[in-house]
Amino acid sequence: MPKVYNWQIGREMSYPYEGAYPKTQWAFVFNINRCLACQTCSFACKSTWTFSKGQEYMWWNNVETKPYGGYPRSWDVKILQFLDQAHQKAGKEAAWNTASRNGAAKPYGTYEGLTIFEGAELESPQQEAALGYEPADDEWAAPNIYEDTAAGAVSSKGDTFMAPATLPEHKTWFFYLQRVCNHCSYPACLAACPRQAIYKRPEDGIVLIDQERCRGYRKCVAACPYKKSMYRPTTRVSEKCVGCYPRIEGKDPLFPGQPLETRCMASCPGKIRIQGLVKMNADGTWAEDPSNPIYFLVKVAKVALPLYPQFGTEPNGYYIPPRWAPRAYLRQMFGPGVDEAIDKYATPSRELQAVLQLFRATQQIIFRYQIIEGPKVFEATVGGRKWDIYNDTVVGFGKDGREVCRVSVDEGVQVRPQKHQNSI
Ligand code: SF4
Ligand code: SF4
Ligand code: SF4
Repeated sequence: MPKVYNWQIGREMSYPYEGAYPKTQWAFVFNINRCLACQTCSFACKSTWTFSKGQEYMWWNNVETKPYGGYPRSWDVKILQFLDQAHQKAGKEAAWNTASRNGAAKPYGTYEGLTIFEGAELESPQQEAALGYEPADDEWAAPNIYEDTAAGAVSSKGDTFMAPATLPEHKTWFFYLQRVCNHCSYPACLAACPRQAIYKRPEDGIVLIDQERCRGYRKCVAACPYKKSMYRPTTRVSEKCVGCYPRIEGKDPLFPGQPLETRCMASCPGKIRIQGLVKMNADGTWAEDPSNPIYFLVKVAKVALPLYPQFGTEPNGYYIPPRWAPRAYLRQMFGPGVDEAIDKYATPSRELQAVLQLFRATQQIIFRYQIIEGPKVFEATVGGRKWDIYNDTVVGFGKDGREVCRVSVDEGVQVRPQKHQNSI
């Protein structure tokens, strides 16, 4: 197999095709700490794209409760088991060498274990492009199974006592994991398709399935480790999240010509989501662009981490991990950057506090932000560290350079005038 460079795992890896990179890459950051599990995102997607016959079980966007939930059921546990078997066979460990961390170029160090592509090379040479499996019908049947089910509950019947919930790790815990297709830089779905019906758009990196070329072999369904390619029995072809490409192209009549965030992102009442386009270098690394909010959160502040980077697809979805969940569980899910990310999020820098206000401040994609400094409004000591809050204002700019939002850190309090007190 050819070799490609995967910056998330800090090394070259095997992939069935030579690297081919878009000019800009569709990417997002989800702040897990703020999610309400309201599923507004799931319904925004469904009511836009998957409301027809044969799409009943298709949730291109889903929100599952970890550790027990999963759509399809146990998808990540199964992939991790396959990877584990491959490691045992190879006599290797799925370990990270964090001593080799190197700034924005190699932020998490080097993953020394096997990716799903390398595992497949070992397990089934010349046969499968990636380790994987095709979920059975019943595994798709309960998208929100185990919602709000906590791990570590020690109460017995009739006893309302639960193990204490204090940071840094709650003894009784769960969190919500919001998921859409990651429009990966090395998509396993694309790698596995024998019809070459899946392609990555050169302008924005969105991964699409050509509905005319697809013959419904479901190799993409088996190969996508995130299980975000789905088969539609009524048309006998596979479908997946389309990254709301008409909105990215500026085709939404709301703001003609201006790229808009996707439906699932723009509808989020928890304000946990921000989506954008990052500039790419010709070699597939991110071009330095620190005033792009996604670049800042991932590469500068390093509070947002890829989901299961060890799978090797270089997903373009990033997560601010939940502060309260066990660190070992989070490290397995988001890699070795977890402790630094939680640390930075718990006492955010002045710039990070401002950038966090941009989440859901506008439907337009923010290409650049600028901070206008304001006065100090609060100070505290958190975890033994002094922490100041400034009422800075952050201004977002769209693709055409025009201002699209302006938000301050201190939201302020609005008092309803006496004469309108009981009116809505
Ligand atoms: S809409 Fe936002 S807050 Fe609600 S479930 Fe989706 S990600 Fe969470
Ligand atoms: S998440 Fe899955 S379906 Fe989406 S691009 Fe990556 S491998 Fe393909
Ligand atoms: S980006 Fe668009 S198509 Fe993809 S999950 Fe979100 S709403 Fe659905």
